Amino acid sequence: MNLIIIGPQGSGKGTQAKLIAEKYQLNHISTGELLRKEISEKTALGQEISACTARGELVPEDIFFSILEKADFSQPNGFILDGSPRNMSQQQTLEKIFSRTDLIIDAVIFIDIPYKVSIERMKKRALIEGRTDDNEQAIKNRLSIYQNETLPVVEHYRSQGKVIDIDGTPGIEAIFQNICTQLESVK
Ligand code: AMP
Repeated sequence: MNLIIIGPQGSGKGTQAKLIAEKYQLNHISTGELLRKEISEKTALGQEISACTARGELVPEDIFFSILEKADFSQPNGFILDGSPRNMSQQQTLEKIFSRTDLIIDAVIFIDIPYKVSIERMKKRALIEGRTDDNEQAIKNRLSIYQNETLPVVEHYRSQGKVIDIDGTPGIEAIFQNICTQLESVK
């Protein structure tokens, strides 16, 4: 089962992706985490990435591509891709990478929460985790990119009948149960 998980910042998609990966033995591929790893290793690439993420911008296409090239999509049970594609151009890049190995996306889990909830949750996370991109301006940038560039990706997959709509406002366990129920028809 090959999945993509998409949601606005603060929707808990990373948390749900981990739970789903564990339950269905999928490889969890988070581009945000892969990028943060590059930053923590203090490579030249890491410095470029750090500047983009701190401003709440997407990293350039060539960096996105090189990060994805290192990801392992070959896990026999499949994967859950978290944090990509963020725009239609990335969606096309991904399709090209997948078509090389005849991979197809089975479903796209779309966790939605209202804009105000996103902002509130991210401010809370900023206090707990201290991520450099959880400052007010970066938060607004990221949400505006999400609305203008990422939502069209959801609509693209919706036109293919692949979207599973999930309400992201209840607690972690309730959301997870809802996702698992809906994944029954995908497995
Ligand atoms: P996330 O953990 O998914 O919220 O990602 C944190 C930050 O990493 C984003 O705000 C972007 O700066 C960067 N990032 C993550 N995934 C991508 C991607 N697919 N393309 C470009 N930038 C990304």
